[in-house]
Amino acid sequence: MRQKNALIPTLRTVSEAEMISHQLMLRAGFIRQLAAGIYTYLPLGYRVLNKVEKIVREEMDRIGAQELLLPALHPAELWQETGRWDAYGPELFKVKDRHDRDFAAGPTHEEVITDLLRGEINTYKKLPMSLYQIQTKFRDEKRPRSGLLRGREFLMKDAYSFHADRDSLDQTYEDMYQAYKNIFTRVGLDFRAVEADAGAIGGKGTHEFMVLSDAGEDTIAMCGACDYAANIEMAEVVGVADAADKTEAPAHEKVATPEKRTIEEVAAYLQVDKEQLVKSLLFIVDGEPVLVLVRGDHEVNDVKVKNLLEGTVCELADEETVRRVAGVPSGFVGPVGLKEKVKILADQAVMQLNDMIVGANEVDAHLMHVQAGRDFSVDQVGDLRNIQEGDACPRCGGAIHFKRGIEVGHVFKLGTRYSEAMSARFLDANGKEQPFIMGCYGIGISRTVASIIEQHHDENGIIWPVAVAPFTVHLIAVNMKNEEQSRVAEDLYAELKKAGVEVLFDDRLERAGVKFKDADLLGIPVRVTVGAKAGEGLVEIKLRRSGESQELAVDNLLNELP
Ligand code: ATP
Ligand code: MG
Ligand code: MG
Ligand code: MG
Repeated sequence: MRQKNALIPTLRTVSEAEMISHQLMLRAGFIRQLAAGIYTYLPLGYRVLNKVEKIVREEMDRIGAQELLLPALHPAELWQETGRWDAYGPELFKVKDRHDRDFAAGPTHEEVITDLLRGEINTYKKLPMSLYQIQTKFRDEKRPRSGLLRGREFLMKDAYSFHADRDSLDQTYEDMYQAYKNIFTRVGLDFRAVEADAGAIGGKGTHEFMVLSDAGEDTIAMCGACDYAANIEMAEVVGVADAADKTEAPAHEKVATPEKRTIEEVAAYLQVDKEQLVKSLLFIVDGEPVLVLVRGDHEVNDVKVKNLLEGTVCELADEETVRRVAGVPSGFVGPVGLKEKVKILADQAVMQLNDMIVGANEVDAHLMHVQAGRDFSVDQVGDLRNIQEGDACPRCGGAIHFKRGIEVGHVFKLGTRYSEAMSARFLDANGKEQPFIMGCYGIGISRTVASIIEQHHDENGIIWPVAVAPFTVHLIAVNMKNEEQSRVAEDLYAELKKAGVEVLFDDRLERAGVKFKDADLLGIPVRVTVGAKAGEGLVEIKLRRSGESQELAVDNLLNELP
């Protein structure tokens, strides 16, 4: 590609971006923002995206997953079948067609793929089956301020697997887990696979792939002695007491519980007034007790409060679960004391998390994106949470320390949650109807690109790993007006292209200083400079990462390239 006519609008400074990856992608001319959390991928950004996609496809295909493409617009009825039309919360983009029918702009595709399979697959003989797509997803994120790290429109690879039995799910989960390791290794990331559910015993049912970075919004508890690592999420922070079965699906993925209580009933039970209850609620979500704290802004909150007071609440906890959630020590019993304790916890939470809205509007929607360390300091909720820095590792007893991470991938064993809600069944070997056993597996493709930059840059710009670089070679003609230089550079450009090398040719009539600055910013791994010694058949080759450079005979160049 010739730079003279290319759309690579580099900038010396940007004001709006906080994250390094966001700043650098804007400055290097890889992306432009159209609206909050919505970006155009310019030619260089798009090339990187394609590189990552290619690696993802290779690894998915290798484990036998089949690529398809599902629709981005989903009829509301599908989401109502699982309860997620309401339960997914304000992140779900909703649109209407000309007949006033509701649709969602897909944030994820469990409903759509389950609907497809219930129509097409009816026998165990076709199982297991893994399907994946790479597609634009839509989530009306609350804080889309981090560039590609958190978009409202973003690119995801999502895969779904269907099984006749648990062993088969376990096998595919293993394959996916390994494929994810390969992918994140190949794109050059320093990552850890962590238990997505810090409280889970065994924690085998869901893992997140975390890029270790201070830019991360998640806090990971890591053991210094063994390889235990877990994401500290709100569900754990507020004490989901019995997490044994929670590995099946994190709370925010769960479908709504049908049974509800009014705010008055809950208030009466906890002996608090309604106002207070708006700020902290105890839920039973699929049999699990969850004390819910929700942040929000005021407009949204008014609506929430209204919903809440109109009775969109929750199931009540029984005494035993309240005790477990509230962390009431054994021996400290009696319903009054217990209710007091819950009330105190709630009040504390309100005081400590004063700029968060702590409340509840609808079952299950609350846990989304509320995370310790990001939404409030971990120390602030010490009383409410289980794992602290320095605590004993739940696996080996070693010391726990905290690190920040960016979630680039997530694998789940879903079980029959969706197939049951949607009556998606097959006939087993005995001719008996069974719900599909499912898994789902996501990778944030665009977030991965940003994460790579978070880990690979210096003060001058991006440093792309070769595997995902937009080009391998940046060929720079120092002075295109010099006939000799321009001829040698043109010849070299033709030769490199012929050899199949991906090369960006800086044939602009810019000053050398500008060209070199831009080259560092763009971060292409190998820079080849055609300058004053072109006449002697000599060029300079310089590696972006190490800064090492050497003079080479033009004829030797091809042998020296990575
Ligand atoms: P987060 O906790 O960061 O909000 P999530 O847990 O909601 O992410 P999943 O539903 O697990 O995300 O989606 C699968 C993958 O999609 C995530 O692991 C992440 O890499 C990516 N992803 C999710 N939300 C976004 C977003 N807003 N922008 C970019 N990538 C995203
Ligand atoms: Mg999210
Ligand atoms: Mg997450
Ligand atoms: Mg996730």
